[in-house]
Amino acid sequence: MTKSGLSTQLVHAGERKQAPEGRPVATPIYASSAFTYDSMEEVDKVFSGEAGDYVYTRYGNPTIAALEDALTTLEAGTAACAYGSGMAALHAALFACELAPGSTVLASQDLYGASFDLLHKVFGAAGVKTVTADFNDLEAVRAKTLASQPTALLAETISNPLLKVCDLEAVSAIGKEVGARLIVDNTFASPFLCRPLSQGADFVVHSATKYLGGHADAMGGVAVAKQEHDRLALVGIMKLAGGILSVWEAHQILRGLKTLGLRLERQCDNARQLAGHFKDDPRLARVHYPSLSPQASSGLLARVLRPPHAGALLSIELKDNSKDAAFRFMNALDLCVRLTSLGDVFTGVSHSASSSHREVSPAQRKRLGIHDGLVRISVGIEDFADIRDDIDQALTKSLRP
Ligand SMILES: *Cc1c(COP(=O)(O)O)cnc(C)c1O
Repeated sequence: MTKSGLSTQLVHAGERKQAPEGRPVATPIYASSAFTYDSMEEVDKVFSGEAGDYVYTRYGNPTIAALEDALTTLEAGTAACAYGSGMAALHAALFACELAPGSTVLASQDLYGASFDLLHKVFGAAGVKTVTADFNDLEAVRAKTLASQPTALLAETISNPLLKVCDLEAVSAIGKEVGARLIVDNTFASPFLCRPLSQGADFVVHSATKYLGGHADAMGGVAVAKQEHDRLALVGIMKLAGGILSVWEAHQILRGLKTLGLRLERQCDNARQLAGHFKDDPRLARVHYPSLSPQASSGLLARVLRPPHAGALLSIELKDNSKDAAFRFMNALDLCVRLTSLGDVFTGVSHSASSSHREVSPAQRKRLGIHDGLVRISVGIEDFADIRDDIDQALTKSLRP
């Protein structure tokens, strides 16, 4: 399977493994909290690790393992562990970096909002320091790395909501100068567009709630490790913190994976066309899309993301760069769905300043370039013309009467 193409892997990886040795006490979807054996001697062997796989679902379950196997293959790692949400997966990857009181995490300044809160409120309370840098400024990353000697670096493949693509290889190389490990949140790219473990990352994390599931009906997260010796930590935190993925969600996400390639081909194609269509629109101040940024001509895009794609998210900034205008635009949409999520089969819009970056001060938002008139669009698989026409009519309605 590791030699197959990605589309083949998406359909087959993780599936049709041999029946588990433990017989479920209830019937598949392996909605069984525990597994029984013919004798206590066998149970004893399972507990000692000599035989069998499954005893209790918090330690492992065949439905969840199928998804973990699929992600191990898709991200070209050696071990994957699934959790109840993307945040739980990120927590596990940070835990696996053996952060201790006094150690430092160097994080991208453009990180997902809850990831910042996790670092500050949960790891901060345990004495871990967080330092931030602009991960698109490699000199700044190097300077802060040398100054703060971090244990771990935390990056996102594509940043939210300005959609800047991170030079993962370069960031990983800087981290290695001080022995830091690199965690990459690959939610916005998915393994279809990028495999961070092949670009120097030690851990890759996903909110499976987004592109992997793809249908807005399941929440989950996955952490994948490049090195086998990290498996114990990922599994250990799953067992002890107990934030496991439900078997129902595992089943839905595994089903979602099969069409990830088809969905993203269409979504990226629609996004590219939308970016091209609206980039010079007089009603807009700016369109943020990776292939429109200077990164595209530098070749960075093609090194990090699967050519010819540039992702399925774009952000538009209204000419009237105010929250009122953004709300007028969003309220006028008929087809596109207003929601704080992304990666679904339908086109969805979110207002970053009042959702993901709500807790960030207005001054800091301005510094980051996240203006009040900015709307992030997660492009779906609908017909391009329908998405274009909906955005077009809503833009007209957003203009002051
Ligand atoms: C949604 C998201 C998360 C958190 O995932 P949940 O499944 O909501 O816990 C983390 N990182 C990114 C980039 C996300 O978009």
